[in-house]
Amino acid sequence: SQTVPRHLFIEDALQSRSYEDTSLPIGYGQTISQPKIVAKMSQWLLEERESMGKVLEIGMGSGYQTSVLSLLSEHVYSIERIEPLFVRAVSVLQTLNIQNVSPFFQDGFEGLIEFGPFDSIISAASPEHLPINLLDQLTESGRLIMPIGGAQQTLCGYKKENGTLTQTALGGVSFVPMLSGVQKS
Ligand code: SAH
Repeated sequence: SQTVPRHLFIEDALQSRSYEDTSLPIGYGQTISQPKIVAKMSQWLLEERESMGKVLEIGMGSGYQTSVLSLLSEHVYSIERIEPLFVRAVSVLQTLNIQNVSPFFQDGFEGLIEFGPFDSIISAASPEHLPINLLDQLTESGRLIMPIGGAQQTLCGYKKENGTLTQTALGGVSFVPMLSGVQKS
Protein backbone atom coordinates (compact mmCIF):
# COMPACT_ATOMS: atom_id res chain seq x y z
CA SER A 1 0.00 0.00 0.00
CA GLN A 2 1.12 3.57 -0.66
CA THR A 3 0.68 6.59 1.57
CA VAL A 4 0.83 10.37 1.27
CA PRO A 5 2.60 12.29 4.11
CA ARG A 6 0.07 15.13 4.51
CA HIS A 7 2.30 17.04 6.97
CA LEU A 8 4.68 17.93 4.11
CA PHE A 9 1.93 20.02 2.51
CA ILE A 10 1.18 22.02 5.67
CA GLU A 11 3.03 25.00 7.18
CA ASP A 12 5.03 24.60 10.40
CA ALA A 13 2.54 26.39 12.68
CA LEU A 14 -0.19 23.87 11.76
CA GLN A 15 1.98 20.72 11.74
CA SER A 16 0.23 19.18 14.75
CA ARG A 17 -3.08 19.26 12.85
CA SER A 18 -1.77 17.60 9.66
CA TYR A 19 -3.65 14.36 10.23
CA GLU A 20 -6.99 15.79 11.31
CA ASP A 21 -9.80 15.12 8.86
CA THR A 22 -10.33 18.81 8.15
CA SER A 23 -9.34 21.38 5.57
CA LEU A 24 -6.60 23.75 6.79
CA PRO A 25 -5.26 27.11 5.52
CA ILE A 26 -2.33 27.00 3.07
CA GLY A 27 -2.05 30.78 2.58
CA TYR A 28 -3.43 33.16 -0.08
CA GLY A 29 -6.96 32.49 1.23
CA GLN A 30 -6.84 28.86 0.08
CA THR A 31 -7.14 25.54 1.94
CA ILE A 32 -5.71 22.03 1.69
CA SER A 33 -8.55 19.62 0.91
CA GLN A 34 -10.19 17.55 3.64
CA PRO A 35 -8.95 13.91 3.39
CA LYS A 36 -12.50 12.50 3.53
CA ILE A 37 -13.57 14.63 0.57
CA VAL A 38 -10.46 13.69 -1.44
CA ALA A 39 -11.34 10.05 -0.73
CA LYS A 40 -14.99 10.51 -1.71
CA MET A 41 -14.13 12.23 -5.00
CA SER A 42 -11.38 9.70 -5.80
CA GLN A 43 -13.71 6.80 -5.08
CA TRP A 44 -16.35 8.19 -7.42
CA LEU A 45 -13.78 8.62 -10.21
CA LEU A 46 -12.69 4.99 -9.68
CA GLU A 47 -16.17 3.46 -9.80
CA GLU A 48 -16.40 0.70 -12.43
CA ARG A 49 -12.67 0.91 -13.27
CA GLU A 50 -9.28 0.22 -11.70
CA SER A 51 -7.44 3.40 -12.62
CA MET A 52 -8.39 7.03 -13.12
CA GLY A 53 -6.33 6.86 -16.32
CA LYS A 54 -5.28 10.25 -17.60
CA VAL A 55 -6.39 12.91 -15.09
CA LEU A 56 -6.93 16.66 -15.30
CA GLU A 57 -6.89 18.35 -11.87
CA ILE A 58 -7.94 21.98 -11.43
CA GLY A 59 -6.71 23.62 -8.21
CA MET A 60 -3.38 22.03 -7.29
CA GLY A 61 -3.14 24.18 -4.13
CA SER A 62 -0.69 22.49 -1.76
CA GLY A 63 -0.30 19.47 -4.07
CA TYR A 64 -1.79 17.12 -1.44
CA GLN A 65 -4.69 15.87 -3.55
CA THR A 66 -2.38 15.78 -6.59
CA SER A 67 -0.18 13.26 -4.73
CA VAL A 68 -3.16 11.07 -3.87
CA LEU A 69 -4.33 11.16 -7.52
CA SER A 70 -0.82 10.30 -8.75
CA LEU A 71 -1.07 6.95 -6.93
CA LEU A 72 -4.42 6.10 -8.53
CA SER A 73 -3.84 7.16 -12.14
CA GLU A 74 -1.50 6.90 -15.10
CA HIS A 75 -0.73 10.60 -15.31
CA VAL A 76 -2.00 13.79 -13.67
CA TYR A 77 -2.09 17.15 -15.46
CA SER A 78 -2.58 19.66 -12.65
CA ILE A 79 -3.38 23.37 -12.94
CA GLU A 80 -2.99 26.13 -10.32
CA ARG A 81 -3.67 29.88 -10.76
CA ILE A 82 -1.75 31.27 -7.71
CA GLU A 83 1.98 31.29 -8.51
CA PRO A 84 3.50 31.02 -4.98
CA LEU A 85 1.24 28.03 -4.18
CA PHE A 86 2.15 26.48 -7.52
CA VAL A 87 5.90 26.88 -6.88
CA ARG A 88 5.63 25.37 -3.40
CA ALA A 89 3.49 22.43 -4.53
CA VAL A 90 5.88 21.60 -7.40
CA SER A 91 8.78 21.55 -4.96
CA VAL A 92 6.99 19.18 -2.52
CA LEU A 93 6.10 16.84 -5.39
CA GLN A 94 9.77 16.84 -6.40
CA THR A 95 10.80 16.04 -2.81
CA LEU A 96 8.42 13.07 -2.90
CA ASN A 97 9.92 12.04 -6.24
CA ILE A 98 6.51 11.87 -7.89
CA GLN A 99 7.13 11.32 -11.61
CA ASN A 100 3.69 11.15 -13.23
CA VAL A 101 2.49 14.71 -12.63
CA SER A 102 2.72 17.60 -15.14
CA PRO A 103 2.07 20.93 -13.37
CA PHE A 104 0.72 24.04 -15.13
CA PHE A 105 0.61 27.60 -13.78
CA GLN A 106 -2.46 29.00 -15.53
CA ASP A 107 -6.22 29.53 -15.28
CA GLY A 108 -7.96 26.14 -15.28
CA PHE A 109 -11.31 27.28 -16.70
CA GLU A 110 -10.29 26.30 -20.23
CA GLY A 111 -8.84 22.96 -19.17
CA LEU A 112 -5.85 21.72 -21.20
CA ILE A 113 -7.22 21.05 -24.66
CA GLU A 114 -3.79 20.15 -26.11
CA PHE A 115 -3.29 17.32 -23.57
CA GLY A 116 -6.83 15.90 -23.56
CA PRO A 117 -9.07 14.06 -23.74
CA PHE A 118 -8.97 12.95 -20.10
CA ASP A 119 -10.42 9.84 -18.47
CA SER A 120 -10.97 11.84 -15.27
CA ILE A 121 -11.41 15.53 -14.50
CA ILE A 122 -11.50 16.79 -10.90
CA SER A 123 -11.67 20.30 -9.48
CA ALA A 124 -10.96 21.50 -5.93
CA ALA A 125 -12.42 24.93 -6.71
CA SER A 126 -16.11 25.71 -7.27
CA PRO A 127 -17.34 27.50 -10.41
CA GLU A 128 -20.82 29.09 -10.39
CA HIS A 129 -21.79 26.93 -13.36
CA LEU A 130 -20.25 23.89 -15.03
CA PRO A 131 -17.65 25.05 -17.59
CA ILE A 132 -19.08 23.19 -20.61
CA ASN A 133 -15.75 23.10 -22.47
CA LEU A 134 -14.37 20.85 -19.70
CA LEU A 135 -16.96 18.20 -20.61
CA ASP A 136 -15.63 18.29 -24.18
CA GLN A 137 -12.22 17.30 -22.82
CA LEU A 138 -13.56 14.05 -21.32
CA THR A 139 -13.01 10.72 -23.12
CA GLU A 140 -16.11 8.81 -24.30
CA SER A 141 -16.25 6.88 -21.00
CA GLY A 142 -14.80 9.64 -18.86
CA ARG A 143 -15.90 11.00 -15.49
CA LEU A 144 -15.80 14.55 -14.15
CA ILE A 145 -16.34 15.57 -10.53
CA MET A 146 -16.42 19.08 -9.10
CA PRO A 147 -18.27 21.35 -6.71
CA ILE A 148 -20.67 23.70 -8.49
CA GLY A 149 -22.29 26.83 -7.09
CA GLY A 150 -21.49 29.95 -5.10
CA ALA A 151 -22.62 30.31 -1.47
CA GLN A 152 -24.48 27.00 -1.83
CA GLN A 153 -22.41 24.33 -3.57
CA THR A 154 -23.24 20.80 -4.68
CA LEU A 155 -20.65 18.16 -5.45
CA CYS A 156 -21.56 17.07 -9.00
CA GLY A 157 -20.48 13.99 -10.90
CA TYR A 158 -20.78 13.71 -14.70
CA LYS A 159 -20.36 10.38 -16.44
CA LYS A 160 -20.11 9.85 -20.20
CA GLU A 161 -21.25 6.50 -21.60
CA ASN A 162 -21.81 5.76 -25.30
CA GLY A 163 -22.31 9.43 -26.00
CA THR A 164 -24.82 9.88 -23.18
CA LEU A 165 -24.11 12.16 -20.23
CA THR A 166 -25.43 11.36 -16.76
CA GLN A 167 -25.31 13.85 -13.89
CA THR A 168 -25.29 12.81 -10.23
CA ALA A 169 -25.60 15.12 -7.22
CA LEU A 170 -23.28 13.92 -4.45
CA GLY A 171 -24.22 16.25 -1.59
CA GLY A 172 -23.58 19.74 -0.28
CA VAL A 173 -19.96 20.88 0.02
CA SER A 174 -17.91 24.00 0.74
CA PHE A 175 -14.93 24.65 -1.53
CA VAL A 176 -13.05 27.85 -2.41
CA PRO A 177 -14.41 29.58 -5.54
CA MET A 178 -12.96 28.93 -9.00
CA LEU A 179 -11.55 32.27 -10.13
CA SER A 180 -10.49 33.54 -13.56
CA GLY A 181 -6.99 34.64 -14.53
CA VAL A 182 -3.74 34.10 -12.67
CA GLN A 183 -2.30 35.66 -9.49
CA LYS A 184 1.46 36.36 -9.33
CA SER A 185 1.99 36.98 -5.58
N1 SAH B 1 -6.54 20.11 -3.72
C1 SAH B 1 -5.87 21.25 -3.12
C2 SAH B 1 -6.92 22.25 -2.73
C3 SAH B 1 -6.48 23.67 -2.83
S1 SAH B 1 -7.82 24.81 -2.68
C4 SAH B 1 -5.07 20.78 -1.93
O1 SAH B 1 -5.26 19.64 -1.51
O2 SAH B 1 -4.24 21.53 -1.41
C5 SAH B 1 -8.29 25.03 -4.37
C6 SAH B 1 -7.25 25.64 -5.27
O3 SAH B 1 -7.88 25.94 -6.52
C7 SAH B 1 -6.62 26.93 -4.78
O4 SAH B 1 -5.24 26.76 -4.67
C8 SAH B 1 -6.98 27.95 -5.85
O5 SAH B 1 -5.97 28.90 -6.11
C9 SAH B 1 -7.20 27.04 -7.06
N2 SAH B 1 -8.01 27.63 -8.14
C10 SAH B 1 -9.11 28.41 -8.07
N3 SAH B 1 -9.55 28.77 -9.28
C11 SAH B 1 -8.69 28.19 -10.18
C12 SAH B 1 -8.59 28.21 -11.60
N4 SAH B 1 -9.44 28.89 -12.36
N5 SAH B 1 -7.58 27.51 -12.17
C13 SAH B 1 -6.68 26.83 -11.41
N6 SAH B 1 -6.73 26.77 -10.07
C14 SAH B 1 -7.71 27.46 -9.45
